[in-house]
This record gives sequence, C-alpha cells and structure tokens, in this order.
Amino acid sequence: MNSQKTPRLRYNREVKAFKSHLSALPRYPYQHADAKVKLDQNESPYELPAELKARALEKLAGLPWNRYPELHAEKLREALAEHLGWDKDALVAAPGSNLLIQSLVYAANQVLDTSPSFPYYAVSARLANAPYRAFPLRRTREGFELPLEDLLAAMDSPPGVLFLPSPHAPTGMLVPGALIHALAQKALETGWLLVLDEAYHQFSGTDYRPLAASNPQVALLRTFSKAFGLGGIRAGYLLAPSKETANVIQNMVPPFVLPAHTAAILETVLEAPAYAERYASEIQKERERVYAKLREHPSWRVFPSSSNFLLIKTPDAEAAYLSLLKAGVLVRRQDQYPLLEGCIRASIGSTQDNNLFLDAAFNLEASHA
Ligand SMILES: *Cc1c(COP(=O)(O)O)cnc(C)c1O
Repeated sequence: MNSQKTPRLRYNREVKAFKSHLSALPRYPYQHADAKVKLDQNESPYELPAELKARALEKLAGLPWNRYPELHAEKLREALAEHLGWDKDALVAAPGSNLLIQSLVYAANQVLDTSPSFPYYAVSARLANAPYRAFPLRRTREGFELPLEDLLAAMDSPPGVLFLPSPHAPTGMLVPGALIHALAQKALETGWLLVLDEAYHQFSGTDYRPLAASNPQVALLRTFSKAFGLGGIRAGYLLAPSKETANVIQNMVPPFVLPAHTAAILETVLEAPAYAERYASEIQKERERVYAKLREHPSWRVFPSSSNFLLIKTPDAEAAYLSLLKAGVLVRRQDQYPLLEGCIRASIGSTQDNNLFLDAAFNLEASHA
C-alpha cells in the first residue's frame, strides 16, 4: 500500500506558534448525518425559483473568472441599499453573517449575550479571547423571557457589543418590542452597540430598520441563508447605524472577500426578491400547522415560535433524535445548552417533510408505549 507516502502526524504536540487560549477550543457543535428529511439547519425547503436560478447561471457564465471581484461588493451593496432604503456606505456585505459576527466580536471591547443563544457569538468570543458574559433566559409558564434587568445592569460597564437574535434563537421566541427599545435606549445612553440578529425576521414579520435608522447604537445583521433560500451561497450583511460603525467592520473583513459568483447570484435575486416573502408566508402557515399538531403530542412539549423552526422538549433528546433519524428525519439536538434539557429543534420544511416528521414523532411515541 502507499502508507509510506503518508507522513505520520505527531499527536499530543503543543502548538507553540499559536496563542495558547486557542489550543483547547472545541470544534463547532455541528455533526453531519444523511437523512431523507433534513430539518437540522433551519434552511429553506424551497429552491430559488427556476427562472431566477437560470438568470443567475447566465450571469455567472458571463463573468470573467480570472478577475478579482470588487473590493467591497460595491454593486451588490448598491442593489441592497436600493432594496432596503439604507445608506450604501453604512452597509457591509460578507460571505455569511457569521463572518460579520466574528468581525464585530474582534472589534468589541467586550461581548454580551443571552444563554442559550446562537452559538457563534460565544465561539467568536472565545476565538478572540474577548471578555464575554452571557445571561440566562428565564423560564416562564409558556416559554422563555429575556433577562432584561441583568442586561441593562451589565451595560453600565465599559461599552461593547450586545448580540440579540430577533426573533430569538434557538428558542424561536418573539422578543417583545418594549424590551428591544429599552435595550436600545440603554445603548444610546452608554455607548454600547446593540446588534439585532434578524436572521429569521421574515418569519416573525418584525423589522427593526426604523430603530436602527434612528438610534446610532443599534445595528442589524441579516442573512440570505434562511428566508431567501440561499444557504449554499453564503451571504449576509450588516446594516450599520452610521458610516463610522460600518467602516470599522468593513476594515475587519479581508479585501475582495465576497466572491464574484456570490455577488452575481445575489444581484440577480435582488431583481425579483418578492419570492422570499411568498416562501416565508408558506413557512409561517406550515409552522402553525405543525405547532398545533405537536401540541397534541403525549410526551413532547413544543414552545411557541416566531421563526422557521420549533424548539421541543422531549423526555430524552438523544432517544428522540435517534428514533427520528431511524425514521429518516434529521433534527438538531439542543440539550447541550443550559435550560434546554431534553430539547430538540426541528426546522419547518415542505408540507411533505413536515408530514413525515409528524408521522415519525407520533409513531415514535407509539413504539415506546
Ligand atoms: C442561521 C443564522 C445566521 C446565519 O449565518 P450565515 O453565516 O449568514 O449563514 C445568523 N444568525 C443566526 C441567529 C442564525 O440562526
């Protein structure tokens, strides 16, 4: 065999070239599995409309692949600015909003978060070795509540960045507008930057552009990965409240970072973006249907959601995950997070996917009984 050609890796060696805090970091908590019904990443079950996809492919074919893309995706930012009514110079585009999260964390004096929350805020803070604090949500009878008093008190320390998914992830809860306005007001008084991560806003019908446009301490993070059905394309953007804020974050991302093909696809999509609203309203309808059905489940407890996924408390997350997988349905375990013992998360898929999920969920119960 050719084992001789493969150099032997030396394990258990300390990597002295890197900052020491980096060596003990766990890998990102995602494990791939194959399944007929994929409900583990809150993706859109719908592909781009065929006509738009064909138009995008044509545009791709006409691009000079030997040439670098624009420095900061100027044309795309212009199209986005036009589409959203935002200042192009206060808008930063990147291949995925995760990169913008990382950039915001690297720029921040300190990071504030809720717990549980979108894991990449905490992961980024650990990478950056940034001071980081997360306040646990409170359990209520119906679901969860933001720890408003804790967050407000923490904002009396030197200003940094507060991340808040709105609607919240991974709980799916709608964050009450009054709380967001209270945090925004505190940010205005203290110099904190409140970053509302609106990854799922199309599914809740909320849109905090008016707030970010009137408060220089509120920024919005958005993605094409969910409602727009472009998870594979990798694109997100920051709507900054000022050019100064945008400039700092723009400097944090490398030059020419948005690939020409990504920009071309997004520019095409922005010529006819209305499909995303149709998709989102289909998902909302399906979410209410699946939610109502799951409320009748004998041993699961489903939390109210304003998003494109449902958080569900089961008697045993591992058992639920494995039984669903055996039935061909892939969901995401959430039981590693505080407050979420027994919890799994299931994306809302197509009607057919959702029916298979519901069948599996109720049969699983029958097979246990
Ligand atoms: C899915 C998701 C994102 C999107 O990240 P991308 O890198 O743009 O795909 C951001 N924030 C939250 C809360 C999400 O769930």
